[in-house]
Order: sequence, then C-alpha cells, then structure tokens
Amino acid sequence: MLECQLNVPTYTENYNFNNYLKEENDTIEEWKYQYRNQVNTLEKLEKYINITDEEHEAIIHTTAKWGTTPYFASLMDRNDPNCPIRKQVVPSKYEQENKYGIEDYLIFKENRSGEEERPDTIARQYQNRVAFTVVNACGIYCRHCFRKELVVDESLELRFDIDEGLEWISEHNEIREVLVTGGDPLLLPDDRIEYVIRKLREIPHIEMIRFGSRLPVVLPHRVTPGLRKVLGEYHRVPIWLNTQCNHAKEITNELAKAVWDLLTCGINVGNQAVLIKGINDDVESFKQLHESLLNIRIRPYYVFYLEAAPGIDHLRTPIEKGAELIRDALRGHTSGLAQPMYVIATNIGKIPLMPDYYIKDKNEKEYILQNHRGEVTSLPTIH
Ligand SMILES: *Cc1c(COP(=O)(O)O)cnc(C)c1O
Ligand code: SF4
Repeated sequence: MLECQLNVPTYTENYNFNNYLKEENDTIEEWKYQYRNQVNTLEKLEKYINITDEEHEAIIHTTAKWGTTPYFASLMDRNDPNCPIRKQVVPSKYEQENKYGIEDYLIFKENRSGEEERPDTIARQYQNRVAFTVVNACGIYCRHCFRKELVVDESLELRFDIDEGLEWISEHNEIREVLVTGGDPLLLPDDRIEYVIRKLREIPHIEMIRFGSRLPVVLPHRVTPGLRKVLGEYHRVPIWLNTQCNHAKEITNELAKAVWDLLTCGINVGNQAVLIKGINDDVESFKQLHESLLNIRIRPYYVFYLEAAPGIDHLRTPIEKGAELIRDALRGHTSGLAQPMYVIATNIGKIPLMPDYYIKDKNEKEYILQNHRGEVTSLPTIH
C-alpha cells in the first residue's frame, strides 16, 4: 500500500483553537465560521429564542461553559422552553444543585487514579481498547454532558499531548482499537486529524479506529471535502464514527447529507444517544428518534443511561427507564435495525440492561418465552 508522505509536523502542545480560527482569511469555511460565531451570550441567544426569566437567571448565574453553533441554535423552538434541543443548549438553574452526582466523576469513571500509569489522554476500562481524549472543545456544550468536568466546567485539566498518547498506544500491543474522543475530535483541523489517523495506522497492532463526534449533528458543515479526504478511502484499518443524536428534531437534511458524505467515503456512522429526562424519555420521542436515525442511514448503537456526574441530577431517569423504553417503543414495535443496546457506562465498563421479559420460566421440559405484546410461547429444554 502507498504510504502517505504528507509533511505534517508533530504536535505536542495543547491546541489553541482561537488562534487557529483567527489565522483564517476572508474565505473561511462555513464550519469555522459557525464555530467562531458560537451562540454563547444572552445577546446572541435572543436572536433565536424568547428567553424566559428562569433561563435568563440560570444563564447569568452559571459558571459553566454553554453555547452551540448558529446552525444548531436555529433548530430550537422560539417559544417553547421545553423544546428538546433548547434543553440541551440552555443552562438550567438546577445545574447548581447536586445531590447524587459523584465528585471528581471522570477521575473515578475513567480509572485515572488506578495503579496503571497512563498519559492524561488515555482512559482505559478494557484490555484491548482505550479512549484517546485529544481535545476539550465541542460544537455544543451539552447540559447533560457526563464529561462536564473536563468540557463544560473545565475543572479537570488534562494535558492533550497527542504524541505521548500515541507512544503509549504503540507500546501496548494488546490494544487493537482506539476511540478518538474529547470534547470533539473533529474540531481539530484536518491536518491534525490526518496526523492522528496516520500515526495510529502505522502501529501494527491497531486494527480499528473509532471517532466519537457530535459534529455531524450540531455542525454538519464540518464534513467538508477536506475532511472526507482525511477520513476516507480504503485502508487496512477502518474508521468508524459514532455521533450523538438525542431527539428526532435534530435530524435535518444537513445531517442526512453529512452522513451520506461520510458513508460514501467509507465511514460507518452509528449513534450513541443519551437517555435524558424530559427530552427523549417518552415512548413517542424514543421511537421516533430511532426510526428517524435509520431513515438517514445512521445505525443506532447505544442508548446511555445518564451518568452520575455532578450537577445533572435533574436530567436523570430511573435506571430501568431505558429498558422499559426498548420494550415499549422499539423491540417488536419497529425495525430490528432500529434497536440500540441500552447500557450503563461505569468505571468497570459498559453494562447492558435490556428488557427482561423474554424468559418467563424454565423447567425440566421447556422454556416459557414472552414477546413484546405479552404473548407467551414455549421451547423444549435441551439437556
Ligand atoms: C465506552 C468506552 C469504550 C468502548 O466500549 P464499547 O463497548 O466497545 O463501545 C472503551 N474504553 C472506554 C474507556 C470507554 O469509555
Ligand atoms: S458533545 Fe459530548 S463531550 Fe461535548 S459537551 Fe456534548 S456530551 Fe459533552
């Protein structure tokens, strides 16, 4: 196979986005324009919605980052404070409360204080795959973010030394798959993404690269010809991409086109939704989300239980809720391709929790099985 000979410098410092966006001339790409003009002040937000008194109060009192792209902001309902997109974007006064959230959540969850010495960029829960955190900026500062200490509150500071992370990965030949994450890794410039991919592909034991990025949903303009060139084409090591879409309202023609552009250059696109109270925890929204994802060729992969990070209690459902929704909205009710796995992400890995109505009984002679309508059937027990 031809080796790519692009002369890309190595990067060892934390990346300064503002500099990189300022360097641009008048003909900047739409996605950079969108990123540069984030909706992150009351004044800008007012152009999109009629801000309620409660929202106004929450915004002036918040110390956390908030905001998103003009594109995603334009999907908010102007008058409905319960709009599922608006609730992901606009801070809430309840973020100041914390009854159940675990302090220093990411340190605990990502095993950052365990016995294994690892660079800041590497989080590990599994023997053969790691999460590689390359940046802490995002195209939206989600109110429900479980990585909020890193991304939204910015109380956890990591050293984003990409070369140090790459070196660690190259020295651990049990690692076959790397999840490039953040923040949002696709906010990095094309040449930096190219560098990460090329370096990972040069490591003989790396068999798969996975990107976690919300940009297709909040900034679909990011899928430029330049990015397609960096991600695309046939290679020994494939690239998978999981995005995060939480409500059917987020599904637009722009997203559909971005997904198509990713698929047609060889990138598989999956979805990792987060189960969020008041946003997608009802049967209708849950079903519509998963059907709409398939309509634009995104394969539902996971639905996550909202993790126990501090300050997001108000968005969390009971644990059982996700399994109930799969039972009542998806399994048997719609296409088998629309079925995600419901998982709880923990410090010891992801734990699936699916509806447990299948095996009702088991005896010497038979298994009694129940379907989504509550009907039962039996199968002989094998001895
Ligand atoms: C989620 C996660 C993975 C990937 O888990 P999959 O079940 O393969 O999707 C790997 N490492 C870490 C640290 C994770 O949080
Ligand atoms: S895009 Fe992901 S990392 Fe960024 S704020 Fe949202 S949930 Fe957090």
